[in-house]
Amino acid sequence: MTTPPSTSPEPTAADASEATAPASLPSILELSRDKLTSTMLELGEKKFRADQLWRSIYHEAVSSFDDMSTLSKPFRKSLSEKYTISTVEQAMFLTSADGSTSKALYKLHDGELIETVLMRYETDGHRRNRKTACISTQAGCALGCTFCATGQQGFRRNLTVGEIVAQVIEMQRIAYAEDEAQMAEGKRTKGELQGVTNVVFMGMGEPLANYKNVMAAIRVLSDGQGLNIGARHITVSTVGLVPQILQLAKEELQINLAISLHAPDNTTRSQTMPINQRYPVEDLIRACHRYADATGRRIFFEYVLLKEQNDSVEQAQKLGRLLNGLHCHVNLIPVNPTKLGPFDRTDLGAAKEFQVGLKQYGIPSTVRMEKGIDINAGCGQLRERAIDILGA
Ligand code: SAH
Ligand code: SF4
Repeated sequence: MTTPPSTSPEPTAADASEATAPASLPSILELSRDKLTSTMLELGEKKFRADQLWRSIYHEAVSSFDDMSTLSKPFRKSLSEKYTISTVEQAMFLTSADGSTSKALYKLHDGELIETVLMRYETDGHRRNRKTACISTQAGCALGCTFCATGQQGFRRNLTVGEIVAQVIEMQRIAYAEDEAQMAEGKRTKGELQGVTNVVFMGMGEPLANYKNVMAAIRVLSDGQGLNIGARHITVSTVGLVPQILQLAKEELQINLAISLHAPDNTTRSQTMPINQRYPVEDLIRACHRYADATGRRIFFEYVLLKEQNDSVEQAQKLGRLLNGLHCHVNLIPVNPTKLGPFDRTDLGAAKEFQVGLKQYGIPSTVRMEKGIDINAGCGQLRERAIDILGA
């Protein structure tokens, strides 16, 4: 089981006894649903047993084969001799003072560290309570955006499908435990546990640079007998890899696409995002039109506000002209300053003025003060801090 959320802002080293099973065994999370079924048939089990196993792993988020009471004892034993379940080991767990955000640092079998965030949103009247898992797709990132702690750490490796999915399962266990606690207190009606409702691929790494594994993970996450997170509740954020965006447009998936734009023109964008030299703004926006046309979905633009770099009203108007005619929404995010990054946060007043500049061109936007700022919830920041604290 995952350590229950702590309210302490100070990191705690994980209990060593919670380590995952020997790294020599493969994780069952690496198997697609079809592969899991065929493997179980080869082991002499019936198809419905494979379905039960799938449900236990992904719907119930059971953490050990021993606890899968729908399966026979000999079957459980043979599974535990062949496979592990989780692929991640918790190294730190922090919860923000307001309780809205938790962040886990996970260690992978080869010692790489990745971050996963759980964000809790109370109902605002017309939307239900949501719990969003923000997950990583790579250890590190090769793309080197100058304001990003992950980019500052460089690229380590792609995550496997099992490592991507395991992060959501870990968050699901936490969310279920919270649902159960609320039921016990009478704050929630008894019935199905809600768990994680949304997944955003906005943790460490560039999802579209690990395309195959991310797509396979999305298929697992959206399986109706498993985690059951519908494509419309999944958002993939990209730095703007144009060929992969065009490929994604052809997948016939209803997932949300978020583009990290962060500047309205090539000169400004290239100053902080090296990828812009390969895929300039015009090509990127053209690919966004293709995605919106193919899927009928609106595009989300992430715009990190960097003081005196990209946050003037003139730049807002330029952005408004650039996005004109595209079905989209802009999220304005004052930067979470990093150790090596040279940028300060834009203040709220200036962010609101930026919003007005966009509105003049009919572009809707929201100012998002980042959740969990007190727990280093910005991308790559907990790993950075862990390396300072743990010498990891
Ligand atoms: N590589 C992908 C997804 C991971 S980053 C991408 O770049 O879109 C997720 C989001 O966090 C991106 O929009 C990224 O630009 C933003 N981000 C990175 N560093 C940040 C910081 N220091 N403060 C605020 N947002 C940041
Ligand atoms: Fe990589 Fe995204 Fe960070 Fe850029 S912002 S360095 S693409 S993780």
